Amino acid sequence: MNVHTSESKHKSKVRLPVIRCSCGAEILLVPTVKKMGETIENHADSHKQKVKDPEEAEAEAEKVRNDLIAKILEKACNS
Ligand SMILES: [Zn+2]
Repeated sequence: MNVHTSESKHKSKVRLPVIRCSCGAEILLVPTVKKMGETIENHADSHKQKVKDPEEAEAEAEKVRNDLIAKILEKACNS
């Protein structure tokens, strides 16, 4: 069942774009809006969990979302 080896070899040459969050985490850009939204939401959540105060946690999540979206747009415009 190894008919696609040459294809996968070719694919590995393509570097998937990543953006870096302010916390240093690398966020992989995925080609669908739905998946990208989930990825951002999951990462915003991980920031949220580090903040104890619920209001501050929400503000932190909002900041991370906006930051990541801005970086994605920046990347999209430069490529
Ligand atoms: Zn982060």
